[in-house]
Amino acid sequence: MSAAENQALKKVLHEHELKATSQRIALLKLLDGTSEHFDAEEIYLELRQRQKNVSRATVYRSLETLVDQNLVTKLDFGDGRMRYERSQGEDEHHDHLICERCGKVIEFFNLEMEAQQLFVCEEHDFVPSNHTMHIFGTCSDCHTLKANPEAETPSQ
Ligand SMILES: [Zn+2]
Ligand SMILES: [Zn+2]
Ligand SMILES: [Zn+2]
Repeated sequence: MSAAENQALKKVLHEHELKATSQRIALLKLLDGTSEHFDAEEIYLELRQRQKNVSRATVYRSLETLVDQNLVTKLDFGDGRMRYERSQGEDEHHDHLICERCGKVIEFFNLEMEAQQLFVCEEHDFVPSNHTMHIFGTCSDCHTLKANPEAETPSQ
């Protein structure tokens, strides 16, 4: 963990008028460094592995604060567990494919799809601020298994 990275995150927090607590920095660092879509409990467990004295309540509270400040995005993949990821800058936007069988999340970016969305907004004289697109279905691993009844189905 570099000091420069810490400084950068401190600056980000200060720009949002948040105190740069070690907990908030650790949380942003964790989310910056992963392509996983963790839920709050997974984030808590990850952070606890990295530093001592992490309290579940503080992690949950910090998460909500960072979501309020739009530094972290909360995602609803429809299974009752809210996931969190670092909010995306304009040039790092992505959307999600979500496997309903194994829970795998695939990130994608499709320029044509994005352009079509802007087009739809224009047609309605609507000014978009942001969007999230989730496509639910079955990933390649899971529908391959389904096609072969000999293979074991992944446990939920
Ligand atoms: Zn998109
Ligand atoms: Zn799957
Ligand atoms: Zn994502």
